[in-house]
Amino acid sequence: MIVMKFGGTSVMDPTAIDRTAQIVKGRAVRRPAVVVSAMSRVTDALLAAGKAAGEGQREQALELARGLRQRHHTTAKELITAAQYAALAPELEREFDTLDELLKGICAVGELSPRSSDYVVSYGERLNSRIVTESYLARGMRATLVDARRVMITDAQHGKAIPQIDQIEHRAKNFVRPLIEDGQVPVMGGFIGATEQGVQTTIGRGGSDFSAALLGSALDAEAIEIWTDVDGMMTTDPRICPDARRIRVISFEEAAELAYFGAKVLHPATVLPAVQKNIPVLILNSLNPRNEGTLIVGRAPKSKATFKAIAAKKRITIVDVVAARMLGAHGFLKSIFDVFDRHHCSIDVVSTSEVSVSLTVDSNEAIPAIAADLEKIADVKYAGRNAIVCLVGENIRETPEIAARVFAALGAINVRMISQGASEINITFVIDEEDVPEAIRRLHKEFFAEADPEVFDTPGASSSETSRERAR
Ligand code: ASP
Ligand code: MG
Repeated sequence: MIVMKFGGTSVMDPTAIDRTAQIVKGRAVRRPAVVVSAMSRVTDALLAAGKAAGEGQREQALELARGLRQRHHTTAKELITAAQYAALAPELEREFDTLDELLKGICAVGELSPRSSDYVVSYGERLNSRIVTESYLARGMRATLVDARRVMITDAQHGKAIPQIDQIEHRAKNFVRPLIEDGQVPVMGGFIGATEQGVQTTIGRGGSDFSAALLGSALDAEAIEIWTDVDGMMTTDPRICPDARRIRVISFEEAAELAYFGAKVLHPATVLPAVQKNIPVLILNSLNPRNEGTLIVGRAPKSKATFKAIAAKKRITIVDVVAARMLGAHGFLKSIFDVFDRHHCSIDVVSTSEVSVSLTVDSNEAIPAIAADLEKIADVKYAGRNAIVCLVGENIRETPEIAARVFAALGAINVRMISQGASEINITFVIDEEDVPEAIRRLHKEFFAEADPEVFDTPGASSSETSRERAR
């Protein structure tokens, strides 16, 4: 069996939901279980409604809820038979009436508790999984709705509740597996769960990928498919470098390194439960279902490729701290880090010499205050508009003189800081923001011009119909 997860954009409207039905049908012999997100932007709207209610903005909250009521009705009506809709419509009405009551209640109390927020936000996945199930039935599939609250048992940390793996395994085996064995297609909302006492919870934004990985691992699935709206992970940003290629296979660790750089396809930590069980995770494109996507595996197969990808993160500030009295003294680094810690500011790249330390942080408003604190112990300079560029690949470990090749390719581009992480699967350096496009193009040309076809798509093939359409 396999788990197929469809994200918000893959179920954003009737056409998109119909597309997922065809994709799931095409996988019938593999005995799929389906996990769905809320329709795109619904979670944001629900959170906004809850927030508005908590601030006493009653009309604004109810207006948002009205929009969602309308959208769910329109979507359902277009997807299912008249008889099905006649039965579902009153149910949707009841649900949205309850949501209105809830919002009015929050408004009356004047406070949105994390527990209420989870309840409000759960409507997105609860109602969409209901509609998707009905639409699959209308297309001749034996779909069965699985209430995520019966399976995804979590603790009570609302907003980012921790899944209880043993419980989930137990319940998946009791409630979901029998459906699959009977030839049915279970459909479950992602992102939401409940405590053992049945109190509604959620497992963090973007949590549907996590739900899919948890379900897949509980059921010992053969594969987990994360269906989204891009062809998978790319060697670099195709908007900067048109020669970017699709990565066919990447290791979990490599994908995790890239996630920090806003490779927004998915956050690898969410698929860890699957990777730990050696279940392959595939990223696929519901707009281009024939594309093979990107496979994430625990250990990447041996390949000729030194790097898997080049990523960049802009809006980075470099903070230089210089203190002559640091010479031979101890405790100095600690006092510097303590300052950042007090301001809840996380440091990304560090390089030190005997009397100076350079650090990078995401640009934020706290920097002047941090600098003022640091000035009590050292001389401080800071400069924004920098970028971190990172080359990721497990083969770095076995490739001598790799740094020399990287810097030769960069030519005259000025490198401000360099670091090779302890994991030894990335080379990271800091440059001026403006140099990013040129740096990426040069590095891509150097390292991906003759890329290993086992690991990367052949040039041109990745520019599928959809990505070409999007580029227009
Ligand atoms: N709908 C939720 C969100 O937008 C969960 C998900 O889509 O993964 O965060
Ligand atoms: Mg997502």
